[in-house]
Amino acid sequence: MPEDSEDWEEEDDSFPWEDVDASRENKRLQARHPQEKGKRLYLGRAAPCPDCRTPAERLSWLYFESPDWTWQNLCGRAGWMVVCDRCRRQVNFFCEVMN
Ligand SMILES: [Zn+2]
Repeated sequence: MPEDSEDWEEEDDSFPWEDVDASRENKRLQARHPQEKGKRLYLGRAAPCPDCRTPAERLSWLYFESPDWTWQNLCGRAGWMVVCDRCRRQVNFFCEVMN
């Protein structure tokens, strides 16, 4: 396996950005899940951005919920996501709900 195989690996466990942005812009969803709560629960386990090394506490925390069709197809996911906006990278995901 060549050294530069990193790319597909990070694709592998990330979600489509359009779904991430939809969750982030969903004010009702975010209001129900304040950032402080996510940090309190998961900051200790959250990794820094592997690209720019920004610590997790300074990255963007949002509550992610996959779109309706994923729940209908029994592959829905919801939980805390930590995103590096500078690198456009999903750094951590802590799944809380799945079906
Ligand atoms: Zn970064």
